[in-house]
Amino acid sequence: MKKNIQLLLDEIENEYKFTRSMTGKRSLDPKVKAALFAVPRDKFVPKDYIDSAFYNGPLPIGHGQTISQPYIVAIMTDLLELESDDVVLEIGTGSGYQAAILSQLCKQVYTIEYVPALADIAKARFEKLGYDNIECKAGNGYDGWPEHAPFDAIIVTAAATQIPRPLIEQLKPGGRMVIPVGRPHMHQELVLVEKDEQNKLDIRDILGVAFVPFQGERDE
Ligand code: SAH
Repeated sequence: MKKNIQLLLDEIENEYKFTRSMTGKRSLDPKVKAALFAVPRDKFVPKDYIDSAFYNGPLPIGHGQTISQPYIVAIMTDLLELESDDVVLEIGTGSGYQAAILSQLCKQVYTIEYVPALADIAKARFEKLGYDNIECKAGNGYDGWPEHAPFDAIIVTAAATQIPRPLIEQLKPGGRMVIPVGRPHMHQELVLVEKDEQNKLDIRDILGVAFVPFQGERDE
């Protein structure tokens, strides 16, 4: 397994080189790299896909959903520039892999999954693997998680047609959010939102991506 993860990390670093003019990230942050090394992706994929767990692509996890491509997990995590005492909100728990990566780099992760059956699997997985700084609930992430807001960082792993207002409101001044924006099967762009200390937003397109759709968007 160590050899497989090393090959995957090499591929991710290579992809960083090709995308650096768009992402502004010249190389994989050593802390993100250590997290990718530490979290066993093979424990987050269905049994039938274990042989592909260290392949740099998305994989099906049931209910029409996917575990994201490792490069995408890496670059989204990297863009958040997490610090060890940060509190992070994730929308779209899915397999729980992205949450487990985040949990290595911050104090607490709150993660919301729309499909209750996936939330149950992820919760059991966090418990079994000992990720005790992750709290997961089933629900519509559109509303964020007001009880635990504001957040130092927010990561959305399903493509929304627009950035949900409650998530912007629940981002701390000085905080960062990454979110894919676009319609299903159409062009989607990974967007970085930075909120400054005066609550002013800087919103930037980073990279073309392909995510499953965000469910349950509300009219604003
Ligand atoms: N981060 C995941 C990727 C999961 S794919 C991983 O590491 O495996 C995106 C997930 O977002 C799907 O499981 C989907 O059910 C979920 N999702 C879609 N819309 C959502 C919403 N409004 N609230 C919460 N989760 C949502």
